[in-house]
Amino acid sequence: MAYDPENVFAKILRGELPCNKVYEDDYSLAFHDINPQAPVHVLVIPKGDYVSMDDFTAEAPAELVTGFFQAVGKVARQLELVEPGYRILANIGTHGHQEVPHLHIHIFGGRPLGPMLA
Ligand code: 5GP
Repeated sequence: MAYDPENVFAKILRGELPCNKVYEDDYSLAFHDINPQAPVHVLVIPKGDYVSMDDFTAEAPAELVTGFFQAVGKVARQLELVEPGYRILANIGTHGHQEVPHLHIHIFGGRPLGPMLA
């Protein structure tokens, strides 16, 4: 799928839409989800025009891939989720029910989350 530069996360990255920022570095931006599904629900997005894990892992520079996944760990530590734990999730494509076509990892925490439902 071609990247749509008008998607909401692209607008957040460009500063055209506000977000409740949690963390930012050269590779990633993390912010609270607008419709939280848990006491902590944060989205981490890479700074680049990538729709999914497919184009990201195939095309992004290794430095960006590493930096993005390190940012997920940093956010979990910053929000003190490491103990007692948390969940990360990425919805990819149509079957994955991805709504925003800019790669993002959800971080859920703040309560026992129960079994994962497919
Ligand atoms: P997915 O694409 O993985 O299905 O989920 C997209 C997520 O983005 C949803 O959890 C939704 O609540 C969140 N979201 C959609 N639009 C916005 C927005 O403008 N700001 C923020 N902070 N979150 C958004």
